Amino acid sequence: MVVPSLHAIFFKAMRTDSMKKWLGPIVFWGVCSPNTLLADWFWGNASIMGTNIEVQVWADNKAQGDAAIETVFTQMEAVNQLMSPYIETSQLAMLNREAAQHPVKADTALFELIEKANTFSEMSHGAFDITFASVGFMYDYRNHAKPDQDRIDKQLNAVNYRHIALDNEENTVFFNHPDVKIDLGGIGKGYAVDKSIEALIAMGIEHALVTAGGDTRLLGDRRGRPWVVGIRDPRNEDKQAVRLPLESIAISTSGDYERYFEEDGNRYHHILSPKTGKSVYEVQSVSIIGPSSTINDALSTTVFVLGVIDGINLINTFPDYEAIILDNERKLHYSAGLTQ
Ligand code: ADP
Ligand code: MG
Repeated sequence: MVVPSLHAIFFKAMRTDSMKKWLGPIVFWGVCSPNTLLADWFWGNASIMGTNIEVQVWADNKAQGDAAIETVFTQMEAVNQLMSPYIETSQLAMLNREAAQHPVKADTALFELIEKANTFSEMSHGAFDITFASVGFMYDYRNHAKPDQDRIDKQLNAVNYRHIALDNEENTVFFNHPDVKIDLGGIGKGYAVDKSIEALIAMGIEHALVTAGGDTRLLGDRRGRPWVVGIRDPRNEDKQAVRLPLESIAISTSGDYERYFEEDGNRYHHILSPKTGKSVYEVQSVSIIGPSSTINDALSTTVFVLGVIDGINLINTFPDYEAIILDNERKLHYSAGLTQ
């Protein structure tokens, strides 16, 4: 089992005192109207990486607030341009076109994220696997398209993270199988959120919220009160299943409602089992709470695929990470740190 050494690598710089620290009373926000010369809250929204980006920052004045929000959007867009499978000029698209023919040099950021993704594949025995895309690219959720069993069978051999050969000295990526495609959709948004928060810290910001789709990270608190983050009800967009008061922590949710279509009573959604090439059905949503958004993002997808028992067991090996799972019978399950 590789968990202990990975654990040492990932959690070195990320320890929080105790998970209890971020649990406080539930509060509701008021809305501040930003004044150009005074310290205040500033808000920003954008659509980047095919998802909704939300930013809230406490800044000394409007100029700093605007600059902070712009910085976040710039970070998100940079990740998008590097890692989107839909942008032809992205390095990820280039890998998918060429890396099965010859080793392709990748930016350090992309190389390291692929490396990190593969460590989650190792620790989950292949439940998290960015080569899922070798089958995944045949699904088109918007147009209700899915591959038939024959096409899945033909491609399924290409789904295996061990096909990805990484050369640490040259920073090159090579696919040992002609049909391999990769997609960082299960980890990339969390990574972009971490990059954004790091950039805000570098600007001197001390209180902020950055969200990209299901991935949120909180910098500090809401000035004397915790942030309140909702986990939505997977079957009702307007309802929240859980509301959590949190601070100086991150939370990611993976759900079967983000991208899906229904046909003949089946829900075809975007989280696939690398073993079958089809959607997994044991749970409806998984939320992971912990200091790193990148890790939360990968773990939420991982636990979604692993299901309740294996998923909770995995999370229980990480003292700084907790899970809240809503299974397909709408029962909530919690990792050990949230129940003891
Ligand atoms: P989102 O915020 O887009 O809902 P999630 O964290 O829930 O993202 O992850 C879902 C995404 O992860 C999918 O859209 C797909 O890009 C990718 N994915 C799906 N199945 C797997 C898997 N088994 N391993 C790794 N990534 C996956
Ligand atoms: Mg994820």
